[in-house]
Parts: sequence; structure tokens; C-alpha cells
Amino acid sequence: MGEFDLIQQYFADRALLGMSGKDFSRIPLGIGDDCALINAEPHNSLAISTDMFIEGRHFFAGTDAYDIGYKSLAVNLSDLAAMGAKPTAFTLALALPKVDESFLQGFSDGLFTLANQFNCRLVGGDTTRGPLNICITVFGDVPAALALRRNGAKPGDDLWVSGELGAPAFAVRERYANRPLTADTDGQKKLLRPTPRIELGLALRSLAHSALDLSDGLQGDLRHICKLSAVAVEVDCSLLPVASSLQHLPELEQWQLAVGGGDDYELAFTAVPSNRAAIQQLSIELGVSLTRIGRVVEGDDLRFFDRQAQPVCPKIVAQWCSFDHFN
Ligand code: ADP
Ligand code: MG
Repeated sequence: MGEFDLIQQYFADRALLGMSGKDFSRIPLGIGDDCALINAEPHNSLAISTDMFIEGRHFFAGTDAYDIGYKSLAVNLSDLAAMGAKPTAFTLALALPKVDESFLQGFSDGLFTLANQFNCRLVGGDTTRGPLNICITVFGDVPAALALRRNGAKPGDDLWVSGELGAPAFAVRERYANRPLTADTDGQKKLLRPTPRIELGLALRSLAHSALDLSDGLQGDLRHICKLSAVAVEVDCSLLPVASSLQHLPELEQWQLAVGGGDDYELAFTAVPSNRAAIQQLSIELGVSLTRIGRVVEGDDLRFFDRQAQPVCPKIVAQWCSFDHFN
């Protein structure tokens, strides 16, 4: 099978299959020409984000093809969610060591399952031979004034986080320690199939001052809000929604996984206290837990407090460092 048959069978045909009449008015031209054409929605900005997904760096060699396809799109959709954007389309740049049809079938199954779920259409890409590497760019819609930026946090805001934290980091830690979790465990499931919080992001447009998605770990990610909003953020560790599957671990270890571990793809956001009831109502409507874990105050740093409301020792916090590709 050559490059163009591969594109046709596993990507172009499947992309077309998922398109409805409404999609064609939005995307008059998809795969097949030099460019795709997308009509912007009136009064909206195009939200654009790119994420690479590289074997041996973002996922372990030997990961199931379906999971690779699923997660490579999920992490991109998570960025749209964090911006309060509605997914429209994506492109796929793919480097493959060889044409492996069983890999391509599994990969495209995982990819299109998620794409169809969120009505996000594959509109183009590039395919080449090389070490396995997936680069997706997503496009979404959001009115610029309502976009959930990292610079909007205000002193007095509550700090919230969706879902549970730490389980994927635990799965990664166990794998490095040669104790890999089985596929049916909480950590492994969340590591391989994170749920992009698209509906939550859309609802937060009118409720939150700022938001981001947790990809590298709460500590590193919250520092972006501190810096860009010129505020300090205080986190009560006893309020962290540590994954129930980690409750057997000592408390400090739980906090380390929840604060330092990455791959959660939950949303952290700040909102005025007068929105508490509306946020709790939203949590019920979406069936997604939303937990208030701290507050935004004047200043410029990130602080962690223990059960006694005392600052966590800086030496301990230093061990909770988030992921950095070059450190
Ligand atoms: P060009 O040489 O103009 O970049 P290509 O020959 O690489 O175009 O690709 C042909 C068409 O197939 C283009 O519309 C391109 O967007 C699309 N395409 C290539 N690879 C992929 C892929 N992995 N997924 C989806 N569309 C793809
Ligand atoms: Mg090309």
C-alpha cells in the first residue's frame, strides 16, 4: 500500500463518513486539495492549538494503536476545552516507520471514535516515513471576549479543579519501576484515554475568569496562571481531589502525585465566589466533579498548605516538580 492509498483508506474515507450536511457548510473543502477551507463562525475567533505525540516521549513503545490514536487527539481537544472553544476540525501530520495496516486500523479507530464524539472533522495532514510521531493541530470556535485565558485570574477568585488527580502519574511511576498496571486499572485507563472536558470548558465561558488544562502537573501549570495574571495562588492540599485509587498511599505521596504528576487533562480554573452555587450546579449537570482547592490572592507565587493550614515545607514542594522536557 502506498502513501495515497493509505491516506484514502484510513483517513480521507473515514473523515468523509463522519461528515453531516451541517459540517459541509462549515467545512466546504476537506482532505484532497492543497489546503482545506473552513468558514469561521460569525463573531467568533478561531482557536488553534498543536500538540506532538512521540513514541518513547509521550507514550511508551508498544502502546496499543487504538490508544495512540485516541490520546493524540484527546490532548489537543483538551487545549480547546481549556480555552472554552468548541471543536471544529483538525489536521494530522503522521510519521510512520512502515505501512502496518493493523496499526493504521487501530490508530484510525481510536482517532475517529473521539473525533466523531466531539464533531471535530479531519480536514488534512501530511504522511511520511519516519520514527512514529503524530502531530495534530485542532481548530475551534470561541468569541474572543469569552475565551478562557491564563491571564484573567483576579485576587479574591476561588481556585477549582475538575475530576480527580494523580492516577495517570501513578501509572507512569509504576511502569518506570517495572510494576506496570494492568489495562483495567483506573490509572492506566486515564493515562491512555483522558476525557477532554469540552462541555465543561464551554459552560465555564460565562463562569470563570481564567482556565488551563493540566497536562504537565498542577504545580507547573498553575505557575502559568500566577505569571500571566500577576497573582499568587494558594492551594489547600487537604482539598485536592486525589484519585480514589490512590487512597492506600501515604498522604504526602498522594499529594506528590496530584500536584507534581502530569497527564491528568483536567481543567483548573478560577472564578468569583459568587459563582460557587452555579459551578456546583454545573458539576451535577455534567456529572463531572468540580472541587474548590484554593484561592487567588495578591502576590506572584504559588503556595501549598497542609491540613493544619501551615505552608508545606519548600523542600517537599520542590520534589513535586512538574514535567519539563528539558529539565
Ligand atoms: P501536499 O503535497 O500538497 O502537501 P499531500 O500529497 O501531502 O499534499 O496530501 C494530499 C492530501 O491528503 C492533502 O489534502 C492532505 O491534507 C491530505 N493528507 C495527507 N496526509 C494526511 C493524513 N495523515 N490525514 C489526513 N489527511 C492527510
Ligand atoms: Mg504533504
